[in-house]
Amino acid sequence: MKTDVTAQDDAAVSVRGVDKVFATTSGEVHALRGVDLAVAPGEFVSLIGPSGCGKSTLLRLVADLDQPTTGTVEVFGKPARRARLDHDYGMAFQQAGLLPWRTVADNVALPLQLHGASASERRERVAELLAMVGLSDFADRHPDQLSGGMQQRVAIARALAESPRLLLMDEPFGALDEMTRERMQTELLRICAETGAAVVFVTHSIPEAVYLSDRVVVMSPRPGRISEVVPMQLEETSSRTEGLREDTAYFEMITTVREALHGHPAVAARGVETR
Ligand code: ADP
Ligand code: MG
Repeated sequence: MKTDVTAQDDAAVSVRGVDKVFATTSGEVHALRGVDLAVAPGEFVSLIGPSGCGKSTLLRLVADLDQPTTGTVEVFGKPARRARLDHDYGMAFQQAGLLPWRTVADNVALPLQLHGASASERRERVAELLAMVGLSDFADRHPDQLSGGMQQRVAIARALAESPRLLLMDEPFGALDEMTRERMQTELLRICAETGAAVVFVTHSIPEAVYLSDRVVVMSPRPGRISEVVPMQLEETSSRTEGLREDTAYFEMITTVREALHGHPAVAARGVETR
């Protein structure tokens, strides 16, 4: 099977020649066309683009929550299905999605419990995870006793429970106020530095994408495709701090991504063509 040995074979995520077509009652929706993307181990990649350009669809294909119409998706060199069964990644969404009747600790423990970890293993790991997201004092609370930001940190701890080498996140901070959101971003970078996990992160926010990413993947709609991949010319993600938000280089990257999203004549021309 393995005839073409490329750098992608070592990738955390490898998407090749992917199209996704949804059949709906009002006809076919070509959600993704010709998508190629490789994410390296430990790399932070954001997907940005207007609503409906296929960001969530692409993330769902990587997570094996849906399958491509054509093309292949691999996670750590395995088919996406195998990676899902092996719990190779953790996921977090805009809604924390916690079970309201379970305590914080029991929500975080859920994946461990489902996959057969012993009670003592679970206790130890949950304590570690809650310390990592700064919620050690809230282990026995229930989700409705926590702020939105805290709930989201519980969801991230749960996603990290099985030490995945890959995190898939779909607008995880989208429902948070701006200050909490910035704190969570810094927290996420710290956690990634600590765990070495690669991240594929869907967002609408240009500053968020710039602050977090090694590379920002800019997508355009109808059909969804990658219009540009912008490497962030900033310090390593592991050494970024709040100070970066006032840095000239940061503003320059924001401008570069904004132009890639809106400004490039070539991109605009393609948009007109496909409408
Ligand atoms: P984004 O996350 O970038 O906002 P999505 O990936 O959710 O975009 O959607 C991309 C396109 O695919 C949209 O036109 C959306 O309506 C369509 N789509 C997504 N999921 C489905 C589905 N299950 N059935 C039909 N169409 C879908
Ligand atoms: Mg979406």
